Amino acid sequence: MLQDRLGRELRDLRISVTDRCNFRCVYCMPEGDYVGLDRSEILRLEEIERLAKIFVRLGVRDVKLTGGEPLVRKGVERLIARLCAIQGVEDLSLTTNGSLLKNHAKPLFKAGLRRLNISLDTLDNEMFQAITARGSLKSVLDGIFAAKEAGFSPVKLNTVIRKDLNADQIVPIARFGRQHGFEVRFIEFMDTGNGNGWDPSKLLEKAQILEILASAGFSLVSKGRHYKNTPAVSFKTLDGSLKLGIIASVSEPFCQGCTRARLTADGKLVTCLFASMGFDLKRVLRSGAGDEEISSAISRVWEGRTDRYSEERLERLRSGKSPFDPKEQKLEMVRLGG
Ligand code: SAM
Ligand code: SF4
Ligand code: SF4
Repeated sequence: MLQDRLGRELRDLRISVTDRCNFRCVYCMPEGDYVGLDRSEILRLEEIERLAKIFVRLGVRDVKLTGGEPLVRKGVERLIARLCAIQGVEDLSLTTNGSLLKNHAKPLFKAGLRRLNISLDTLDNEMFQAITARGSLKSVLDGIFAAKEAGFSPVKLNTVIRKDLNADQIVPIARFGRQHGFEVRFIEFMDTGNGNGWDPSKLLEKAQILEILASAGFSLVSKGRHYKNTPAVSFKTLDGSLKLGIIASVSEPFCQGCTRARLTADGKLVTCLFASMGFDLKRVLRSGAGDEEISSAISRVWEGRTDRYSEERLERLRSGKSPFDPKEQKLEMVRLGG
């Protein structure tokens, strides 16, 4: 089994199928006009499938499609059907902003997808506009219910919490999840990319999120992490009416259990969400390399991996140092795949 320098296996692969997005979320998008990648730079569906097969032979079991917004990529259902057919894939899921789900939910289910994460940061129309800059809350809600109707289970709602922006949405979203049978996952706001204005004052930590829920009468029991490589810590209400997770990447980093590789839309292999560069797998692939050569390249990158950014960030925060070096340019989330 392939292991990195800190003994972590390669188990999960996040594939960004596009760097394009129909939203401009304030916590994700770089400032100014984002210039997307040239079409010729983007991996073709067959190239993604071929790389996925090689990753699975190297030990990957869980595959997640993401972006940008994965549903703006033409042929995503075809890709899902192909990935479902790969022997060894135990879990295939997709993360979406939900805006195009109304029309995609059934075709995605038909293609074999069973797990969806849908981003929902607010139930308030005005706040939705302020966060996403484009799109409509109604389209997202329609998408969420279309997913339920199509048979997706569980439907997980992802809510990024920025203290100064949508902390008052924690309780309404938890109630919404409980009312309709959706799992809810609150995500601590992270310093991804270079221009999302992160600073510690905008962080609402897991413990504070739990306090807010407790004050609103949610009696939550901790279930821990499902597996040591699962980012979310799980909770359940005493009466079982709501399943909830918190991804506390900042206050309780989980780098020790991080078995995740990322493949960007333009074919870079990236070993950390906060990396400043990736290894150009597309160049190897398009140079006519055979599967063995590609496999060796991936192995070399993974075996050299030492990433533990979030643990280092917490160490810096605790010692009163600046949490990050502004001179160090990170890859943008929209390109990297969240
Ligand atoms: N467009 C899709 C969506 O929004 O679900 C998929 C890509 S998005 C980059 C993947 C996930 O990353 C979303 O759940 C999003 O909320 C989350 N995300 C983006 N920026 C973040 C940040 N600064 N901190 C925490 N989570 C973030
Ligand atoms: Fe928002 Fe997702 Fe688009 Fe980022 S990629 S701007 S989180 S919808
Ligand atoms: Fe993994 Fe990097 Fe996140 Fe740590 S900071 S959990 S190494 S992606």
